[in-house]
Amino acid sequence: MSKREFQTEVSQLLQLIVHSLYSHPEIFLRELVSNASDALDKLRHLTLTDDAYKSLPFEPRIDLDLDEEKKTLSISDTGIGMNEEDLISHLGTIARSGTKNFLTQLSGDARRDSNLIGQFGVGFYSAFMVADKVEVTSRKAGEEKAWRWISDGKSGFEIEPAERAVAGTTVLLHFNDEGAQYANSWRLQEIVKKYSNHIAFPIFLTYDKSEWNEEEKKSTKTRVTEQVNVASAMWRRSKSELKDEDYKELFKSLAGGWEEPLFWFHTKAEGSLEYTTLFYVPAKAPLDLYRADYKSGVKLYVKRVFIMDDSKDLLPEYLRFVRGIIDSEDLPLNVSREILQQNRVLSNIRTASVKKILSELKNIAENDKEKYATFIAEYNRLLKEGLYSDFANRETLLELIRVKTTKADGLTSLADVKSRMQDGQKAIYYITGGTEALLRTSPLLEIYRKKGIEVLVLDDEIDEIVFSGIEKYDDIELKSVNRTATSDDFKDEAQADKTEEVKPLLEKIKAILGDRVKDVRASARLADSPSCIVTDEDEPSARMRQMMKAMGQ
Ligand code: ADP
Ligand code: MG
Repeated sequence: MSKREFQTEVSQLLQLIVHSLYSHPEIFLRELVSNASDALDKLRHLTLTDDAYKSLPFEPRIDLDLDEEKKTLSISDTGIGMNEEDLISHLGTIARSGTKNFLTQLSGDARRDSNLIGQFGVGFYSAFMVADKVEVTSRKAGEEKAWRWISDGKSGFEIEPAERAVAGTTVLLHFNDEGAQYANSWRLQEIVKKYSNHIAFPIFLTYDKSEWNEEEKKSTKTRVTEQVNVASAMWRRSKSELKDEDYKELFKSLAGGWEEPLFWFHTKAEGSLEYTTLFYVPAKAPLDLYRADYKSGVKLYVKRVFIMDDSKDLLPEYLRFVRGIIDSEDLPLNVSREILQQNRVLSNIRTASVKKILSELKNIAENDKEKYATFIAEYNRLLKEGLYSDFANRETLLELIRVKTTKADGLTSLADVKSRMQDGQKAIYYITGGTEALLRTSPLLEIYRKKGIEVLVLDDEIDEIVFSGIEKYDDIELKSVNRTATSDDFKDEAQADKTEEVKPLLEKIKAILGDRVKDVRASARLADSPSCIVTDEDEPSARMRQMMKAMGQ
């Protein structure tokens, strides 16, 4: 037997998990069952694609074995298993950078932190919330030897040779005081149904069932094994068979939290390409949305076989808040990450999925204003990112975004702004480059106010970059009020005359300001203020210059 210490980060993590996630200890079971399911997915994948594994027996199942007296529970799978090396590296170190980030993000708020746990996948260690000793016995598929990993979750772990009849893993928990409540068959069934009902493999529970014995006039206990979950890929069932509750349950197991989905889009495509997609929009934006190492929320399946859940190529980056499943009939099972990037089938599914998601959103925007407002509060900015990056869907995205304006309270659509245009108004105008308060009081808006023209108040820091790349909404030009040429829209005959009239004054001001300005011109855009600063048509704006400078350009 050899004794080893945990990597420092693991100890740190264990401390945090045990002490800050007390409010939902039941997730230990979801995590361990999902590991078992992952292990089964991996082995199934190999038996289907790798000659070395094709002849191996594969009877996928997950077994929960409860001993109420001893207060132990084991979670067994017939999956890929782990050898000595795997046990050390998977259950003793933190390999993924995501988990280290998890440590820095913990807030002490139990609900928020336990959502994080699912996002960063530190699942296995959650066993120590409910157990003071965990034994993992495992045999890797294709290998003869089995190994046992034993730990109290404090001082480190031990590894010793063990016996196991078939490949797979058994995690044996010795419940602590907190965990004792789960040494209860009702409770376990309830938790499995809640989180793991749609796991594609059967989950069995073995326990002592009390039954009333009529002859002896007392209840006796018999050891039974019963299947607990429905074990079907729920998304493959038809919409008419599924209830809202089914969808919500699957969402929870996908998103690994307690948040509700705001809405979902379930599509079955038949024809030249056959696939099923089920996409969810979470009611609350995922916490890692603006992190460079955000976790993708879409899982890829091929013919119900899990392929991967960390590909960022399944949907464009601006839709990274979407959670869900893509299940294709046409992809090869051994599709690799590299192949995926240039795979025609997947790129067609992706294109169709984006169109579908956006058109469903448009539908909601038109038919359920209240729900759409909730959506916008979380995701407006992501749609704007899409405006910048997704040319093909720009028109739809312009319909979907919401903006502040000088006329409407709150947020409004460009369609509404268009409908409020004045007779003879040449363009839709917008102002950028500061806080909302600053923009609303800008002298640049005077002429518009005077003429009763609505102006978009774009105060989000990405607005300037996004909107400077957009020429039109519908057939109407979008123009920045910060630009010189825009004032031409208000030029009339009288104005031209005046320019001559004030020429000596302009020359004088120019001489005084010298190099600090490019030009001094008479303008029709002001009503009350004597002057304002604008950007020449072919120059980057003041704010863009600031941003470029900040980026070192
Ligand atoms: P994650 O599942 O997000 O990778 P976990 O902490 O739940 O993180 O598990 C860590 C790793 O331990 C897994 O990635 C896997 O390699 C290994 N592992 C855990 N449980 C099992 C199991 N039942 N069978 C095989 N490997 C497992
Ligand atoms: Mg896991």
